[in-house]
Amino acid sequence: MLHVVATPIGNLADLSPRAQDVLRSVDAICAEDTRHTRALLGHFGIGTPALALHEHNEDVLSERIVARLLGGDSLALVSDAGTPLVSDPGFRLVRAARAAGVRVSPVPGPSAVITALSVAGLPSDRFAFEGFLPAKPGARRDALARLAGEPRTLVFYEASHRIVDTLADLRAAFGDARPAVLARELTKLFETVLDGSLVDLHAQVEADPNQRKGEFVLVVQGAGHDDDAQLAEGRRVYGLLSAHLAPSAAAKLAAEITGAPRKALYGTGTSDG
Ligand code: SAM
Repeated sequence: MLHVVATPIGNLADLSPRAQDVLRSVDAICAEDTRHTRALLGHFGIGTPALALHEHNEDVLSERIVARLLGGDSLALVSDAGTPLVSDPGFRLVRAARAAGVRVSPVPGPSAVITALSVAGLPSDRFAFEGFLPAKPGARRDALARLAGEPRTLVFYEASHRIVDTLADLRAAFGDARPAVLARELTKLFETVLDGSLVDLHAQVEADPNQRKGEFVLVVQGAGHDDDAQLAEGRRVYGLLSAHLAPSAAAKLAAEITGAPRKALYGTGTSDG
């Protein structure tokens, strides 16, 4: 049997008891980075051997690993963080194992995409996970232009050194007013979830170097929601009222008048971190 085991995206206490049992009981663990995985195993006192399976050797190694599985070994597959195969190696091994008739069984757990969606407060019954955008600016802008009309909530992974440029490109492709959430360092010490329009988020991340550190998931509301117009109207009314009232009172009134979410009207909506 091949167990596909999700591991924490930050907080080590998120490694489930079943994941610990499986990692302890298998003959070996296929890991993206064995040093990283040994540190995790060490934390839980698990001594199972780890072997490296990453994007550069997965094609070659999959056959050998499947042979071990067919020979009766029980193995686990993990990645550095979260759920294997989600913007991580593993799909070739899983495909090869399934093709050979090996049982592949999941041990579910954290994944940054679902973790971010769970706190974003954006429509989540349907969403499109886009993983990492292309690193090259031209290709990234082309990809975003193709997504501008997508009605489902969009989820992106992004690296810290590209987050400001990506927010600028998102503004250009989707418009300044599109509601979005930037989830940073989830489950870690500096966990921060910022919400607002794309222009708000861009301004906040540009202004504060701390908001450019760590790991990011960007959740962007889909196109064509009436909410966009409602939010724009809410912001306009908030702008007028806030010249005369305290921000909280102005936001409360503007929300009542326009139906826009009160929190989004502060313009710099933020939660802890
Ligand atoms: N397999 C992983 C999963 O299930 O989420 C994703 C692996 S991908 C190589 C790593 C990316 O996931 C990071 O660049 C970041 O975009 C996102 N990510 C992982 N951990 C995160 C965290 N704690 N907070 C925010 N984003 C995170």
